[in-house]
Amino acid sequence: MKAFYSTAHARHAPSDDYEGGTWYPYVEVPERIEACLAVLEKLEGVELAEAGPASKKDLLAVHAPSLVDGLERISGGLAAGEVYQPKPFLDGIFADQSSPVTKGTFRAACGAAGCALAAARAVLGGEGHSVALCRPPGHHAGRAFCGGYCYFNNAALAAQSLTAAGRVGILDLDYHHGHGTQDVFYRRSDVDYASIHADPAVEYPYRWGFAHEKGEGPGEGHNLNLPLAPDCGKTAYLEALERALEFLGRQSPASLVISLGFDTHRSDPYQGMGLDEKTYRTIGARLKDAGLTTVTVLEGGYNLAVLGGSWASYLVGLLKAD
Ligand SMILES: [Zn+2]
Repeated sequence: MKAFYSTAHARHAPSDDYEGGTWYPYVEVPERIEACLAVLEKLEGVELAEAGPASKKDLLAVHAPSLVDGLERISGGLAAGEVYQPKPFLDGIFADQSSPVTKGTFRAACGAAGCALAAARAVLGGEGHSVALCRPPGHHAGRAFCGGYCYFNNAALAAQSLTAAGRVGILDLDYHHGHGTQDVFYRRSDVDYASIHADPAVEYPYRWGFAHEKGEGPGEGHNLNLPLAPDCGKTAYLEALERALEFLGRQSPASLVISLGFDTHRSDPYQGMGLDEKTYRTIGARLKDAGLTTVTVLEGGYNLAVLGGSWASYLVGLLKAD
């Protein structure tokens, strides 16, 4: 199984995050990818491969020109060390204040998108499973907006690419709802989206991710949100996983994109949902049993001490011998 990475991610390294009127240290740091690579390079059955960047044409498959061009313009106009901090509420292409832009942000985001597209191509070329070590993450980036540490939607780009081979299901397992992914496919019937996440009544992204959001127009019935209490624990989480897989399986998808965030880990700074490495192995094994080709895309997960081990556990479950 191939796991794609891009060295361009290191160009994006904001130091501060502004949320709710307070500055915090930015937790979406380059060391996240180093922590993943250090473990995956030793994992049997995993071959690391460097991906090239996504082109603007690639990005326009799911994003509006206003987002792609806007981000390129802002990022390209900054000096080294300078940061564009989005203003409160809606600021053009920025849905919130958690996606500051630096000189290297555009190239890093193109690199992350390139990882997802390379992972999709691997599956289209006949691989059973592939992984995209994307940074910055992507599931909070919608068709025409970015936010929540995300700039381009890596999982949506992979899913869009995989529609060449039939119907696609997206399973979002990040602690937060992927409102960007939901936004991209909300009015479409060829890509189903199911998300298990912390209740948006109390957690980011606050305005999306509720159970009543089921899709619109042709997309009605193709969106499933399963909000859970932030401290739900693994039993409730794994029950929700069964509901999500049952929903996605109903449409007999040809492949599955998994937006995997390890901020559900019990020791994550976001305090997670009480999951641990053993739970990720269970999730990986359950996905293997589903019998679909998969592209797994990294989203959140901010405890550097458990990130690599969590990936390894998930992949051991997904790749285990029968
Ligand atoms: Zn998250």
